[in-house]
Amino acid sequence: MFDNLSDKLDKAFHILKGHGKITEVNVADTLKEVRRALLDADVNFKIAKDFTTKVKEKAIGQDVLTTLQPGQLLVKLVKDELTELMGGDVAGINLSGTPSVILMSGLQGSGKTTFSGKLANFLKTKKNKKPLLVACDIYRPAAINQLHVVGDQIGVEVYSEPDNKNPVEIAQNAIKHAKANGFNVVIVDTAGRLAVDQEMMDEIARVHKAIQPQETLFVVDAMTGQDAVNTAKAFNDILNFDGVILTKLDGDTRGGAAISIKSVVNKPIKFVGTGEKMEAIDVFYPDRMAERILGMGDVVSLVERAQEQFDEEEARKLQKKIAKNEFGFDDFLTQIQQVKKMGNMKDLVGMIPGASKAMKDVEIEDDAFKHIEAIIHSMTPIERSKPAIIDVKRKARIAKGSGTKVEQVNQLMKQFDQMSKMMKMMQGPGGKNLMKMMGG
Ligand code: GDP
Repeated sequence: MFDNLSDKLDKAFHILKGHGKITEVNVADTLKEVRRALLDADVNFKIAKDFTTKVKEKAIGQDVLTTLQPGQLLVKLVKDELTELMGGDVAGINLSGTPSVILMSGLQGSGKTTFSGKLANFLKTKKNKKPLLVACDIYRPAAINQLHVVGDQIGVEVYSEPDNKNPVEIAQNAIKHAKANGFNVVIVDTAGRLAVDQEMMDEIARVHKAIQPQETLFVVDAMTGQDAVNTAKAFNDILNFDGVILTKLDGDTRGGAAISIKSVVNKPIKFVGTGEKMEAIDVFYPDRMAERILGMGDVVSLVERAQEQFDEEEARKLQKKIAKNEFGFDDFLTQIQQVKKMGNMKDLVGMIPGASKAMKDVEIEDDAFKHIEAIIHSMTPIERSKPAIIDVKRKARIAKGSGTKVEQVNQLMKQFDQMSKMMKMMQGPGGKNLMKMMGG
């Protein structure tokens, strides 16, 4: 996420390395580079200029501060200003109505339908809500089908009227249906066009007026940079929406949209989409995003994700197995699946402070566990539970079955062996000593 921008900002701060204090000259040089980095990230010119002016004023006023190195001080000022620019505090979502109605708007392809599903899934699993998804795209039957597919995937009902060509009516009927059937959130997915056009705007304005949603969300593809900001402006003029959803932040986004959108429409970014899967949704925290942009990682989110996936029951079962020496490849596979649920590897690495930079040139596969999983899947149940029986012949078969090389199978066996030993040590009587050794 935002690798280029992070890289350039890092270079900008290098100018201050070795300088004992902040001066007009070294700050000006650094901030010139910061501004250039922002412009390259497709941040609007005026916003980038205002940004550096503000940071400069603050920096010059603080040259008496001796506790921080000038580099650190400037990084902190830039971080605070970035946080402010992206909205300051985290913005919640209004779920006050019965049902609460959420209207989704945005261009075709922005990720509206996908996000509608993600949001429904989020509200269902994290907020204990009973959401209803509504297909209001009357132009593309495929769009209705797509929402049904999404609904099936997450176990959420989808309301549609394939023969009705009046989106206002469909939305109103859906709300009636929700009231009658105990749904407490209604998410209305609307038709998008490839570009802003009057007809689409009129239509969504009519739906908006008729259903009076508690939340109107504008969905935009982060990869479109300044275009995203312009589209946001056009939609906001008509709908006066409540919040922005930035999608495709997992892609090669330059970051401009995330940084500029709030100050142009004065509406907060509420969620971000970070992948095609239904779980790839994150609440937007301006401060955490600023830290990520500056390559400082985002440990808080990383720990939160780990906690979300942590299953106490499973952990207890696992402990018993380790104690009894029964930890096998099936358990290993379960562990991998838990880690995978936390997100893709690139994303996770980006959350570890400094790791993005350190691993910049390392190619991280989206599915880093693909080979390991393939190898384990090629093992028989007996081999999985009793890895010791895997001999040379079996290894050759497993490698062939999984499309890997025998060396890869060997490597996995070795890793597995080390891991099992390690876990056993942590559990056994020596565990305490080991923990002590590790500083615990
Ligand atoms: P809509 O036309 O606005 O409803 O857009 P869709 O929901 O159909 O999304 C368009 C394409 O973008 C689809 O291929 C989605 O899988 C993809 N997409 C949506 N959100 C994300 C995201 O956060 N990350 C990535 N990588 N792809 C996404």
